[in-house]
Amino acid sequence: MAQLLDGKLVRDEILSELRPRILALPRRPGLAVVLVGADPASEVYVSSKVKTCGELGFLSEKITRPAATTTAELLAIVDQLNADPTIDGILVQMPLPKHIDAQQVLNRIAPTKDVDGFHPVNVGRLSIGLPGPRPCTPNGVMRLLHRYGIDVAGKRAVIVGRSDIVGKPMAMLLLHANATVTICHSRTADLAAECQRADILVGAIGRPAFLTAEHIRPGAVVIDVGINRLTERSQVEAIWRNEPAVLAEFDRKGKLLVGDTHPLDAPALASAWTPVPGGVGPLTIAMLMSNTVEASELRQAC
Ligand code: NDP
Repeated sequence: MAQLLDGKLVRDEILSELRPRILALPRRPGLAVVLVGADPASEVYVSSKVKTCGELGFLSEKITRPAATTTAELLAIVDQLNADPTIDGILVQMPLPKHIDAQQVLNRIAPTKDVDGFHPVNVGRLSIGLPGPRPCTPNGVMRLLHRYGIDVAGKRAVIVGRSDIVGKPMAMLLLHANATVTICHSRTADLAAECQRADILVGAIGRPAFLTAEHIRPGAVVIDVGINRLTERSQVEAIWRNEPAVLAEFDRKGKLLVGDTHPLDAPALASAWTPVPGGVGPLTIAMLMSNTVEASELRQAC
């Protein structure tokens, strides 16, 4: 029976560790979250970030702007937040509307306030192993592996997905932890063969239940970063092979979340695996809070 890696449990542990550090600070940490447009998924993410800030006693500033906001207007907001002494972390919620130059906006955030770890300076720091804010989702995966005593040194890690926010930093963190890392993507020649070599398989693709028994080596640790919302009953039927309890849940809610790994094949084959929901997802916000506390500690020590 595969071990379930419980992201909610680890999230709660991370938040508990942060509380005394927050109380020890002369000024409470401040996080600004900037949301442009009305993407429903982004609104949900931003609300849960602001809610967690409240639970931890952070100062949180939520700045919302219409979809028609220009790059120049957004840069001016970032400049203001960079100069604000009460703000330790700035997060611009992605994706931004297409007409906005997202890279220019990310580049404008002061690297010391870049709690997402996306600024080129912090990407470089990660690459050469200097301290700095690490991207939250992959760093959360590292915390989860550590918490469950899964040693990655010497293991073959295969990451499917090469995005700047998940796949690449995940590879870099695993490499620094002495795994032997392979990164796969949409042009990988024989994906199943690459995945079958993995002791640790990370799915960060954005395709529902894409990694199946064909990709999962028996005994591998399977980490599922994907969050895919299913709204078609036929998809749920096909993926869960008509499992009545799951279909009943879908019929009740009208939607269902599934990861990038197959929700039946992964627990059947893996030695340990992260469910969706409840696996990697809860860790992202916890690591964002952790990065903000760290940024605040550094700022207040100056
Ligand atoms: P991107 O769309 O930026 O990247 C997807 C990656 O998957 C790309 O590198 C792409 O390859 C690769 N890919 C797509 N199709 C295939 C295929 N058929 N075979 C092999 N590789 C493929 O996604 P993100 O990295 O932003 O997100 C990935 C998933 O993780 C999404 O479901 C997202 O919702 C979720 N996510 C979850 C978070 C959390 O908190 N748990 C946080 C962030 C993301 P190529 O580069 O060649 O196009």
